Amino acid sequence: MGDISKECIAEICGIAEKHGTKALVKEPLSRHTSFKVGGECACFAEINSAECLTDMLGYIRANRVPYYIIGRGTNLIVDDGYIPFIFLHLGSGFADMRVEGDRIICQSGASLSAVCGFAADNSLTGLEFAYGIPGRIGGAVFMNAGAYGGEMKGVTAYAKAIDENGCVKRFEGKDLKFSYRKSIFSENRYIITEVCLKLNKGDKSEITAKMNELMQRRRDKQPIELPSAGSTFKRPIGSYAGMLIEQCGLKGYRCGGAMVSEKHSGFVVNVDNASFSDIMAVIEHVREAVYEKTGYLLECEPEIIRAQR
Ligand SMILES: Cc1cc2nc3c(=O)[nH]c(=O)nc-3n(C[C@H](O)[C@H](O)[C@H](O)COP(=O)(O)OP(=O)(O)OC[C@H]3O[C@@H](n4cnc5c(N)ncnc54)[C@H](O)[C@@H]3O)c2cc1C
Repeated sequence: MGDISKECIAEICGIAEKHGTKALVKEPLSRHTSFKVGGECACFAEINSAECLTDMLGYIRANRVPYYIIGRGTNLIVDDGYIPFIFLHLGSGFADMRVEGDRIICQSGASLSAVCGFAADNSLTGLEFAYGIPGRIGGAVFMNAGAYGGEMKGVTAYAKAIDENGCVKRFEGKDLKFSYRKSIFSENRYIITEVCLKLNKGDKSEITAKMNELMQRRRDKQPIELPSAGSTFKRPIGSYAGMLIEQCGLKGYRCGGAMVSEKHSGFVVNVDNASFSDIMAVIEHVREAVYEKTGYLLECEPEIIRAQR
């Protein structure tokens, strides 16, 4: 794949400027991923409105420029090399929220924790499970994020997304094809712009107490103090990745700056300026060793973005 032309980058920067936002040229993705790993991309554009997104997409698609949608980058493992893509970041500039009865309607760049806090403030229950899952609501719906017995499937009334022709489509919850860490958007790669959550009236102090309890469980059990992309492996049917890895004696297994967490074996963590190859070497070793000893073939949960070679 060839590089993106200077004229194209200048156009993207011009569109960003027109909308009062910024496009960063040759921006290191390590600044935008929770693993703190990732090489430079061609351009990293902040989206701050639906109009800005429409303009960017109009130009990008008309000129067949490769692009990638990124939220908070908490479910990504990005190569250290150059990534010849325009990254469109749907983040805090695209994060309006409002409440309508027992529903919350938010732009897809809203952080999941902020939406949880907004639900608690409005005495709405049902989203407690998600408190502490990092990332944006768009990424959460895309991944069908879940924890502690809940998942986005259970609370998403509808999502609006832009299709390949630039048209906004509305998908009702039942049509979102939610399954384990997947949604219809994993197949069609449409761009989620708005999410509506259906919750229930509840007691504010009980909701807040539940969220705090779940957050404490995370702090106790997960290495949230170290950079990672969360659980490195999907839960295999009939077992748990962390348990299998621990049984194979791989807790603390290390390659360069990447290591199987001592606190929770299901997490590969960045302990000392890990490179992409360090992380992939740990993942490959764990997969091979677990398969050999237990017969379970572990599948990577985060998305892997490879560089141009
Ligand atoms: C410490 C830690 C703990 C975690 N705990 C959990 C957990 O308990 N449960 C869980 O499910 N996950 C967990 N995760 C993983 C991650 O936080 C979730 O998957 C999260 O929902 C990803 O959101 P994001 O905004 O960071 O998405 P990103 O990582 O930016 O993107 C993930 C995917 O979604 C796509 N995407 C993002 N936004 C949009 C959009 N608006 N439209 C279309 N596509 C989009 C991207 O293209 C990419 O394919 C954890 C991660 C960390 C680092």
